[in-house]
Parts: sequence; C-alpha cells; structure tokens
Amino acid sequence: MSTPTDFERLLRRSALRVTGPRVAVLAAVHDNPHADTETIIGAVRARLGAVSHQAVYDVLKALTGAGLLRRIQPRGSVARYETRVGDNHHHVVCRACGAIADVDCAVGHAPCLAASDNGGFTIDEAEVVYWGLCSECSSEGVS
Ligand SMILES: [Zn+2]
Ligand SMILES: [Zn+2]
Repeated sequence: MSTPTDFERLLRRSALRVTGPRVAVLAAVHDNPHADTETIIGAVRARLGAVSHQAVYDVLKALTGAGLLRRIQPRGSVARYETRVGDNHHHVVCRACGAIADVDCAVGHAPCLAASDNGGFTIDEAEVVYWGLCSECSSEGVS
C-alpha cells in the first residue's frame, strides 16, 4: 500500500468517494506514521497546495470513522494518526522527546492481554502504552 492507486482502491473498498484530499491525507499518514495533524496538513499542502485545516480535520475524521486510519493520543500528546490499523498493536512513547514507535501485540492475537476479570464484557482490544526513553534520549542521559 504505497501508490495513489492503492489509496484510491482502499477508499473505494470502504465505500468512500475518492477525492484529492482523501488520497493526500492517506499518503501523508502512510509516509509519516504517528503524525500529528499539523504534520499531516503540511504534507497535504505540499502535495495539493491550499487546503484548509478544516478540510483536513474532516478527512481525518471520515477516514478514522471508516477504519482506514487509527487515531492514538498518548497522554500529554496531541492526536496522532497511522495507517496501520486492525492489528491491535501497541505503542511505546519516549517520556523525554515524545517519539512514538510501534510495539507488536504482546502475545498472540488481540486482545493479547487477558484481563483478570472481564466484568462480563466481551473484550476484543487492549490499548497499552509503554513509557520510557528512546535510544537517543537514553544515550544523551549517560554521556
Ligand atoms: Zn526520546
Ligand atoms: Zn502504531
């Protein structure tokens, strides 16, 4: 999934109309995993020229609603988006610089962390955020 045609196919499969901003947003998020809205707007404008903030917000909302984008928001961070959806992967966040990386599912299939008591709920997802220092920040600490 990396050419405009692939993104167009993705939109059609989700019964969404193919528009320039939608394709541009998908491409921007694909190229910048865990990008915040400002980064996405910058990338979309680099591709299409003038596009309003509101237009990009609307597209992000539609694509997230259709399950083509996943929205994450670690505490203390603005919302971030990624095209890697549907695999219940987790994230590790650097306390110092805010860098975010993917962490594959802890063990096995979603929800991969068995709740000790499900309270009668049918659980299909576990949202886990690991916190620590990225390699750059932890090596700065020792030098
Ligand atoms: Zn860091
Ligand atoms: Zn991710």
